[in-house]
Amino acid sequence: NMKAKNEFRMTVESRSVNESFVRSTVAAFAAQLDPTIEEIADIKTAVSEAVTNCIVHAYADKVGKIYIYAAVYDDNKIKISIRDRGCGIEDIEKAKTPLFTTLGGERAGLGFAVMESFTDKLTVRSALGRGTTVTMIKKTGGREN
Ligand code: ATP
Ligand code: MG
Repeated sequence: NMKAKNEFRMTVESRSVNESFVRSTVAAFAAQLDPTIEEIADIKTAVSEAVTNCIVHAYADKVGKIYIYAAVYDDNKIKISIRDRGCGIEDIEKAKTPLFTTLGGERAGLGFAVMESFTDKLTVRSALGRGTTVTMIKKTGGREN
């Protein structure tokens, strides 16, 4: 486990306006790795999906806290962790299956598939009634100095 070169934490409420706020903040933090435009776009998309899941699933009928952690490493990776203390996921493997959704008609069931394909590693930990932590690792081009 490599030591982070830089890291930050933030906590936001699970309100829709905070989806773009978190997405932009993590992207701004990632900029120190001098990533490509495409890598930044991938990070934004993945973060959006994770935060949206906290808003619409974890805290479905209420407002709760979303805990964000991000760290950058010497090998130009960024680790992003999005945690909630919401309802939790009963079957993680099933939840990660493309097109699986518990909000049929409203949602496509593609969030985890997107997170998986737009990052290099996706880890989901969850406990029913306690919450969920989504951790993503993304390698970037590595042209930083
Ligand atoms: P889409 O992301 O395409 O709008 P979706 O959110 O249903 O649809 P995923 O993001 O892949 O699809 O999530 C799959 C399912 O996993 C969700 O329908 C929900 O049941 C569950 N889930 C995902 N994230 C959380 C979370 N943070 N807390 C509780 N349940 C979650
Ligand atoms: Mg989703």
